[in-house]
Amino acid sequence: MEAIILLGAPGAGKGTAAEKIRELTSYAHVATGDMLRDAVKRGSDLGREAEGYMQRGELVPDEIIIRLVEERLDAGRADGRYMFDGFPRTVRQAELLEQSIARRGGRLRAVFFLDAPRAVLVSRLGGRRICRKCGMNFHVVNIPPRRAGVCDACGEELYQRADDEEATIMNRLDVYARQTAGLIARYEGRNLLVRVNSDTGVDALVSAIRSRL
Ligand code: AMP
Repeated sequence: MEAIILLGAPGAGKGTAAEKIRELTSYAHVATGDMLRDAVKRGSDLGREAEGYMQRGELVPDEIIIRLVEERLDAGRADGRYMFDGFPRTVRQAELLEQSIARRGGRLRAVFFLDAPRAVLVSRLGGRRICRKCGMNFHVVNIPPRRAGVCDACGEELYQRADDEEATIMNRLDVYARQTAGLIARYEGRNLLVRVNSDTGVDALVSAIRSRL
């Protein structure tokens, strides 16, 4: 297997970029946040365990996340290509991912760090709207749907994530700074880090990533 990681603060554009890259390449999009929201919606045991942390904008415990990712990788092809979005978020998760890749005889090809100023992150998160059915991302100003409140792709209703409310946004950005941002140095030290400016349109961001794949 082969893996790439999209690293960056909430609002850096990981999900939006990942969806485009998935369409244009053979990388499967593995977004732990999407998997957790799905588990919450289904009301599974895992969803019930994770829900409180997510509502507060805190990280879900590493053991839960690792279990989720391992199950996903076990279900996929041994020679699959994976694009992780929102994972890893702690040093422990990064270590366990590296072990998992090694066990599978795979390699971590690159880590893309999507970099944007804090003010941009805050405005993107506050304006973000998501399709209830297909999960496509929009923004009330930056990526408006053709019809307000309706998904361009499947015509379903758009909603605002509960954790995209202002107080929770601030907490998520602090949690990122405290628990995740240290991974930038980790991957820089291993010569895997590719810094991309994400304060651009999504197309420029996606082509910057694709040019390195
Ligand atoms: P996201 O959609 O990536 O912004 O994730 C939404 C929420 O899910 C986060 O605020 C965390 O509560 C939780 N979450 C997603 N991915 C992880 C992860 N790798 N580790 C811990 N918590 C996560």
